[in-house]
Amino acid sequence: MTARPSSISSSSSAVQSPILDLQGVTFAYGDGEPAISGLSLSVLAGAFVAVVGANGSGKSTLARLLDGLLLPTSGRVLVDGLHTADPEARWEVRRRVGLVFQNPDNQIVASIVEDDVAFGPENLGIEPLLIKQRVDSALAAVGMGAFGRHAPDKLSGGQKQRVAIAGALAMQPRILVLDEPTAMLDPDGRQEVMEVLGRLHAGGMTVVLITHYMEEAALAERVIVMQGGRIVDDAAPADVFTREHPGLDLPPAAQMAQSLRARGLRLPAGIVTVEALADALRPLIRHAD
Ligand code: ADP
Ligand code: MG
Repeated sequence: MTARPSSISSSSSAVQSPILDLQGVTFAYGDGEPAISGLSLSVLAGAFVAVVGANGSGKSTLARLLDGLLLPTSGRVLVDGLHTADPEARWEVRRRVGLVFQNPDNQIVASIVEDDVAFGPENLGIEPLLIKQRVDSALAAVGMGAFGRHAPDKLSGGQKQRVAIAGALAMQPRILVLDEPTAMLDPDGRQEVMEVLGRLHAGGMTVVLITHYMEEAALAERVIVMQGGRIVDDAAPADVFTREHPGLDLPPAAQMAQSLRARGLRLPAGIVTVEALADALRPLIRHAD
């Protein structure tokens, strides 16, 4: 997957208002310490944002606030201009935000792939012909067009998760929020899902990816680091991963670059992807061709 140069998105989005706009959001479960504290965040349409942070830092709570499944204790969450706390906007907010969770088995409800993907639009009362078109196009978007008549329980983890993403896409959301969608997948499955996200982003979808794999975060345009319910860093991957964040590893390519620098190789700063590492190493090993 190739990350789009950030200059493209920032120049094209300079005139847009944010598709996600959180102002001073605090959320507490019951009487406990807030899981999210005074958090402000705005995300432009078409952005690919990764959210990282230790367990318990508030990432899943943030995902649920974005979808209106949870409402802020104070502050406000606007999704595509709609206030999530507005009872009249509730269903529209859920339709505009596609949520994908960690465990594909918990998200797949039907025994045939295309029925599963059709589930959401059927609940919206959309006419069958249009549902069929949506299902076909959602399955094509995740590279599962040939699996419509298959049984989900016979699919690999990566394929199941792609069906779950297709289910979200069939609702024609404006934003996809994925909460550790690759955590239960093998390396092939993780790669399949990341390739799908790259393609959706290239097609204009706004993607918010919560992940604990730093190599996945390195592929986003922007990385948000959470700690104790707050945002403690928010920048391009090449910048975020040059800073120390307690409990956060560097992406493997950045670790490798660091080790090679320590052994005397002159590598530029800001290497966070395997692609960037390969580009930096190529001139140094050209004589080996
Ligand atoms: P993350 O996804 O980053 O691991 P969470 O958003 O799940 O973080 O959790 C943030 C904080 O909220 C943690 O302290 C967690 O224990 C608490 N929490 C999460 N879900 C619940 C819940 N349903 N009830 C009470 N506390 C919760
Ligand atoms: Mg979580």
